[in-house]
Amino acid sequence: MSERVVRFAEAVAEVERHAALLHEPPSERVALTASLRRVLAGDIVADRDFPPFARSTRDGFAMSSNSGLRDSKQIQLRMLGEVRAGEGWTGAALTSGECVEIMTGASLPAGADAVVMVEHVQRLVSGEIAIPLERWPATGANVVAAGSEARRGTTVLERGTRLAARHIGMAAACGTVELEVYRRPRVALLATGDELVDLAETPGPEQIRNSNSYALASAVEDACGQPVILRVAQDNVESLRTQMQLAFECDLAVFAGGVSAGKYDLAEKVLAEEFGAEFFFTGVRMQPGRPVVFGKTAAGKYFFGLPGNPVSALVTFGLLARPLLAAMCGERGWKPQFVSARLGDDVKMEPGLTRFLPARLEAGLTGAMVRRVPWQGSGDMAALARANSYLVVDDAGCDWKADAWVTVWTGD
Ligand code: AMP
Ligand code: MG
Repeated sequence: MSERVVRFAEAVAEVERHAALLHEPPSERVALTASLRRVLAGDIVADRDFPPFARSTRDGFAMSSNSGLRDSKQIQLRMLGEVRAGEGWTGAALTSGECVEIMTGASLPAGADAVVMVEHVQRLVSGEIAIPLERWPATGANVVAAGSEARRGTTVLERGTRLAARHIGMAAACGTVELEVYRRPRVALLATGDELVDLAETPGPEQIRNSNSYALASAVEDACGQPVILRVAQDNVESLRTQMQLAFECDLAVFAGGVSAGKYDLAEKVLAEEFGAEFFFTGVRMQPGRPVVFGKTAAGKYFFGLPGNPVSALVTFGLLARPLLAAMCGERGWKPQFVSARLGDDVKMEPGLTRFLPARLEAGLTGAMVRRVPWQGSGDMAALARANSYLVVDDAGCDWKADAWVTVWTGD
């Protein structure tokens, strides 16, 4: 089997190329209340104008801004009545010198084009209100015109959107009770290694608990996939063949462990010999995650072989497997989130690898500062648990002083 070790940017491009080739996933109908984090399979269209009427954004007095009364220091308007949210004004259109008391969210009476805030007027014993000249409202003040947020019939949520609370609010405002979302792809998670024991077991002195399957299952869930955790495979051809076979019953197979250059790292061999796998890359010049593998079986199933080290497994999943999974979920335009921050301490790195170093990003109103978390390398789960992001160093290396502007991957 020939090796193909690529730069990080090439690996991303390779995954994106395959993601772009995927067919649109099948869809299903779900209740709006069960649609959080699902991906919309059809556009949602405004069923009415937003707002449906000219809406007051303040408690105050609706009036015509060109009342032609702006001569004195203070202007008095005759109050004709009130209009509450949920009601319309049933009286005649307002004319110069008249106003109607109006509540936030209520519909503007005909003839009115502005609202003066209740805090800015004085109620007179005569029943009139007095507006100081400097508070005279401009046309449209405190009013949102009908249809100015969205016109009836226009798309307010696009197919391919992964639904967050804000989208569900918009869908509810359009009267959506059920909606069409893409089916969640099943993602097999197969940890491999003779040293691994499952959570329910007590590890022997040299054994390690299988943590990757659980971390990766959570990452899959986050991306809207359906994780399927398989029993750990041993480092032998028979066990790998059997478990991989099960993994390939899912839509995407993610293996963890056994892809390095060790004597018992057999995953690639089994994939090639037993499943006729084609490899798009067999390594990426990145840290952590160098041994990561991406390919497709002869039967057409995509797989990722992630390094077993827990930090490597999560980083390579998040940056390389996730774009393909996002496309399988029907999500459009998914990109990893990179932000800029100031560096807290000096950092020096050799060139040659694109690095994603566990870090803590402290972001506040006045800016963002990032500091590396001390770690023992890519097996250090405890460091990862203390981190909340990754400092990015591209393959040119770096010799940065504290306070430099740097790029941080949020892990999302
Ligand atoms: P490998 O990629 O198989 O060479 O494994 C690299 C390191 O990651 C070894 O120290 C393994 O014990 C560890 N490791 C492999 N798989 C897992 C797993 N599922 N959970 C936790 N650690 C693992
Ligand atoms: Mg191993």
